[in-house]
Amino acid sequence: MKPTNKTHIDYAYELDLVVKPDSRVPLFEREYAAFTGAGVPLFSIGGGYYRYALIDILARFHARRGYYVAETPMIASSLLYQVSGHLDFFRKNMFIFQIEGHDYAIKPMNCPYHILIFLSHLARYRQKVRLPFKVFEAGRVHRYEPSGSLYGLLRVRAFTQDDAHIITREEEATEAIVGVFEEMKLLLEKIFHMDLDPGKVELRLSLSDKSKIGEEFMGTLHEWETAESALEEAAKSIRDKYGFNYYSEEGEAAFYGPKIDVVMRIEESGIEKEWQLGTVQFDFNLPRRFRVYDMVREVYGEDTRVFIIHRALMGSIERFLSVYLDYMKGRLPFTLAPLQFAVIAIKTGGDTDEEISTIARRIHEELVKMGFRSGLLETTKTSLSGEVRRIESTIKPAVTVYIGAREAREGYATVRPFIHGERRRVSKRVPLSGDYATSIVEAVKELEDGVVELAGYAPRIPGDLSHLL
Ligand code: ZN
Repeated sequence: MKPTNKTHIDYAYELDLVVKPDSRVPLFEREYAAFTGAGVPLFSIGGGYYRYALIDILARFHARRGYYVAETPMIASSLLYQVSGHLDFFRKNMFIFQIEGHDYAIKPMNCPYHILIFLSHLARYRQKVRLPFKVFEAGRVHRYEPSGSLYGLLRVRAFTQDDAHIITREEEATEAIVGVFEEMKLLLEKIFHMDLDPGKVELRLSLSDKSKIGEEFMGTLHEWETAESALEEAAKSIRDKYGFNYYSEEGEAAFYGPKIDVVMRIEESGIEKEWQLGTVQFDFNLPRRFRVYDMVREVYGEDTRVFIIHRALMGSIERFLSVYLDYMKGRLPFTLAPLQFAVIAIKTGGDTDEEISTIARRIHEELVKMGFRSGLLETTKTSLSGEVRRIESTIKPAVTVYIGAREAREGYATVRPFIHGERRRVSKRVPLSGDYATSIVEAVKELEDGVVELAGYAPRIPGDLSHLL
């Protein structure tokens, strides 16, 4: 791909996503950004489709893999965060306000809610609750970050985590961690067409300093030892199976538990950067504060020990999107692309013009009826290349369908899907018979295959996006 000076912020604007007041954008968008507030991205038309499609895929992906799918409230009584401890050590990053004399907080983390979900299941169904217990949420959180530290989608005050919590028996922890890694690999490869090259991807283990357990690192020695050996076991098995290397950093764990991060090295304008992908983090703090250990022992028996694990496959959707947009030069995969089809009628000024128009309009309308996001552009042969350059450098349709004089005469469409893995477009001649759009969709069917394999179906959020062209 050709080098470009665009950054993810430019791509985000093209995606119709207002991320930061910026003098280069038209006044209207600048004012939008001013209204939403610094660090609070506004997902408008294109960005909205992307979000809905992605969250739909994620919910199905997780549901098929035994996760409960939750949607927890955006605000909570600050009591919840008092119990979780966030009010003590995270208060300066929280938005807190009062209603009728009570303190409320805007959710800065999903964890306390997910633990409540587990506990309420346990209270109601007792031993019938099977372990590991897994809850997923595309959970939007808000955190106060100083305005000087905000940058595009990379650092924001409102973001969405592809968050899940796993409550697992100690002896099944290794399996749970390997499972998360495999989910991440599937998601990134099948949905985002990323090449997880073992030469570029590493696992980083953040471990405790054993001499400081009980001081800087909370929890028991047994907990740390068991959790860290589960992490190492998992890292070894991932290395043996997939070839990804790992390394450990002692003393780098959070005070509440060790973790494993998946880091990918990417090159951008000659500079090597780290892209943090999935993460698996143990927590010995929350289960104590919510008395999870006591309740588990009461329900499953005295010698049952569990871990609570936080995990994300992408991290935050916004941050992931920002790096991905840079990585893919602003181009989203078919199922997530705001504009899936651009149908272009190329008029010549001859007598086939009316037929060209009719065929193109019919294809576009059928595509929209099938639930695809399609746009229709009528242009002339002389202005075609300029128009194509314009939409290719901004809105980047996943598939372009051309109808010109020759196509109209011979009864076919020229279909050019963008093949993500190869980072290029390929041309196909698709004969038009019966339902025109069905023939075109058949010809580009493999664009949805990865998602269908993972989620069971590819979401179709219909939209006539003609106005974007
Ligand atoms: Zn968590």
